[in-house]
Amino acid sequence: MTQTPISGIPPRILPEIDDTARQYWTAGADGQLRIAFCAACARHVHPPRPRCPDCAGILEFRVVSGDATLFTYTVAYQQFNPSVPTPFVIALVELAEQPGLRLVTNIVDCDPEALVCGMALRVRFEEQRRGDTTVFVPVFAPPLT
Ligand SMILES: [Zn+2]
Repeated sequence: MTQTPISGIPPRILPEIDDTARQYWTAGADGQLRIAFCAACARHVHPPRPRCPDCAGILEFRVVSGDATLFTYTVAYQQFNPSVPTPFVIALVELAEQPGLRLVTNIVDCDPEALVCGMALRVRFEEQRRGDTTVFVPVFAPPLT
């Protein structure tokens, strides 16, 4: 599906947004990252899924701090999609809330040469249209302060 950029932001290539993941992709409307949480296990679960993988309990989305560290990354220089400018950084970041709670994202507003595994990052959101849905794509950047 074609994505229409808003405010000059290049489109992000997103997975299909189904009912299970919709809250993850739309919750950033108020600037807060929300991650699925199992109350029975008292732990976050990502990527979103219909039930907790450990206890099959119901998951609910909870606000997290948006603080993370860079776990690993790669810099893409090959432009496979003509609408996505290069270079761009594909990263696995670990959220502050829980060891091993990692998500795949892009790093923005940072020279790829300045990236160091373990560095502090903070979430921000890119508003984009996807069909009838407005999504708020979580991306990460070094904290401004
Ligand atoms: Zn559980």
